[in-house]
Amino acid sequence: MALSQDKHHHARILARRDVSRDLCIWRIDPGGPFAYRAGQYATLGLEFDGVRTERAYSLVSSPYEQELEVFVELVPQGGLTPRLFQLKPGDTLLCRRIAKGRFLLDLRSGRTNHLLISTVTGVAPFVSYVRTLYRDWKSGEGSLPGEHKFFCLQGASHSFEFGYREELERRASDAPWFEYVPTVSRPWEEAQWAGETGRVDDLLRKYIDQWGLRPDKTTAYLCGHPKMIENSRGILERAGWKKDAILEEAFFHVAIKEGGGSA
Ligand SMILES: Cc1cc2nc3c(=O)[nH]c(=O)nc-3n(C[C@H](O)[C@H](O)[C@H](O)COP(=O)(O)OP(=O)(O)OC[C@H]3O[C@@H](n4cnc5c(N)ncnc54)[C@H](O)[C@@H]3O)c2cc1C
Repeated sequence: MALSQDKHHHARILARRDVSRDLCIWRIDPGGPFAYRAGQYATLGLEFDGVRTERAYSLVSSPYEQELEVFVELVPQGGLTPRLFQLKPGDTLLCRRIAKGRFLLDLRSGRTNHLLISTVTGVAPFVSYVRTLYRDWKSGEGSLPGEHKFFCLQGASHSFEFGYREELERRASDAPWFEYVPTVSRPWEEAQWAGETGRVDDLLRKYIDQWGLRPDKTTAYLCGHPKMIENSRGILERAGWKKDAILEEAFFHVAIKEGGGSA
């Protein structure tokens, strides 16, 4: 298959960190100019058996960084991730030259609170926001974070799946404009976990109250598993959030089984 040179860079894996058997973080040299904003995604791909397979990956890295970073979950029967998980430093992959996505920080509505809700790899764009804001805050060069405050809830089955817990906890302890709460939904499988428990959507109402977040002052961002997004949207709407104050980035669609249930 002819590779359109004007659409793709030949990117290169610089490093990989295996978070678990099915979660991996890659640092990538995009192989050419690659401009993006925090919250956007890169389209990465591989060619095998004459077929090019490409998928969207939210960027964890900040636009201030030279390298790209992505946090990927293995889908065992998937078209791309089983091959992606075989890549090691030095291997190449395709990267579309143009970043895409509208899951950007809402700085226009006048709402100054930002409630960031994710499952596992869905934390990726939020790490990008925080890295970018932290750099702005430290340098004092831009107007951000200014009056803006960021509240991040991340859910996973087990604590080893968080991927960025240390980094986000460090930022939360340092930056008065950032809060981070990770929660595990299977605490009975790890007796040493002393943090929050339950699914992220089950905790949403509690933290809306605890952090004093009001619908007219808060934009909510939902990223990751489509079921979490659906549940959280319902909770937010019942608590008074208007549709335009809820931004969503679903990573995939849940297949509907015959009879109406989700697979
Ligand atoms: C805007 C956007 C940003 C994304 N960012 C990320 C990211 O940062 N990290 C990341 O890991 N993925 C991300 N994804 C998902 C990614 O694009 C791929 O869909 C995913 O990696 C699976 O690719 P695959 O080719 O292996 O599986 P596919 O062949 O695409 O999927 C096979 C089947 O698995 C389902 N599926 C896909 N992903 C999952 C999943 N995670 N869990 C359960 N079932 C799934 C699909 O709906 C499909 O039915 C993002 C998707 C979008 C649209």
